[in-house]
Amino acid sequence: MSISHLARSIVESPTLRLNEEARLLRERGEPVIHLGIGEPKNKAPISAILGAAGKLLSGDVKYAPTDGLPSLKKAILRYTEESYDRVLAPENVIVSEGAKQSLFNILYTICNPQDEVIVLAPYWVSYPEIVKMVQGVPVIVTPEDGTFVPSFPEIERAVSSSTKALILNSPNNPSGAVFPEELVAKIVALCEKKGIWLISDDIYHKLVFDGKVAVPAWRHTTKDIESSKVIVVNGVSKIYGMTGFRIGWVATNRELVRIMTNVQAQTTSCVATICQAAAEGALTGLQSYVESLRLTIQNNRDVLMQEIRTFTGVKLAKPEGTFYALPDLRAYRMGSVEMSELLLKKAMVVTVPGREFGMEGHLRLSISGTVKDITEGVARMKWALDPTSPNEIYIGERKLLRDWL
Ligand code: PMP
Repeated sequence: MSISHLARSIVESPTLRLNEEARLLRERGEPVIHLGIGEPKNKAPISAILGAAGKLLSGDVKYAPTDGLPSLKKAILRYTEESYDRVLAPENVIVSEGAKQSLFNILYTICNPQDEVIVLAPYWVSYPEIVKMVQGVPVIVTPEDGTFVPSFPEIERAVSSSTKALILNSPNNPSGAVFPEELVAKIVALCEKKGIWLISDDIYHKLVFDGKVAVPAWRHTTKDIESSKVIVVNGVSKIYGMTGFRIGWVATNRELVRIMTNVQAQTTSCVATICQAAAEGALTGLQSYVESLRLTIQNNRDVLMQEIRTFTGVKLAKPEGTFYALPDLRAYRMGSVEMSELLLKKAMVVTVPGREFGMEGHLRLSISGTVKDITEGVARMKWALDPTSPNEIYIGERKLLRDWL
């Protein structure tokens, strides 16, 4: 079949593939535990549901302006002022179908073929693939073994005359790490000095634990929005648990927004208005929703740390935010893809191989589910991997015997 080299080179999203596998197994009645996908169990905030329902009941569901409904953009401007202390104009914001499309639009708009984009490992799986889709070259910076935050000299060394952008994601998917403020400040200064776009993916910025604050890149630029190199990506998928509504946005200078709007106009025209109304409802409704989600996930993180303690050979840096943990399982001497497959097949636990995030030997575990998912999921992992654990386990009604260690 005649297919473009570029399209063929794009790998399948492992998280979405595993999600589908888990769904099919569940449909067959298998007792699957899903520690794969980053999406909380909570229902969408009532203000979001009412917003969407109101729009639908009006029957007036038409094309919207390409860059977003004015009322949603107004809510985003208020959110930006409250969260970042930045006063922006509507022309500084474009709404897209999820933060993923926001990132695609940015990279498509700024990259020429062969431009380099610095991606800090461990990274969200889609960053390198989106860079490749716009004919850019991902340049991966890996942290020192045992840490999840690259050192500043390593980042500096990755900069070349072809560097167009750097993607920063703190709090970080997949590690849950929050970058030290000093490092964020240095990265901002480096990008502004060298004229490199700094794409700050802030999608998890309110999901931080133990009273810590993820100081955003924006805090460290003295430049105004029109001259700063910092581009901020945000959305409702994570902090309101509204993954299915597909709403993300970008805040940056007017020229970039204008060109991204042309790009979006020729691809998706505009974002579904019912979903935009839902996002507006979430942003303008009761914000205690976010805090209660944050506390739930923080408690899940504590449960995970407690459960992992008795898992021989597993090292886990305590996640400081997000929905994820990235334990190091290299002691079991197995590739992460093989390990993830073993866990799914033998123990019915979905995990994501660290290899997909640039961290071989690790598995990403989502802590966005229930406490029971975490305790039972880790118990099954221990049974499948740890030879010092008892070799019998009950999964649902079935008593299983471990015979492969
Ligand atoms: N950035 C990061 C770091 C993410 O983890 C995700 C979702 N997994 C996204 C962006 C995309 O979010 P959305 O669902 O809004 O497209």
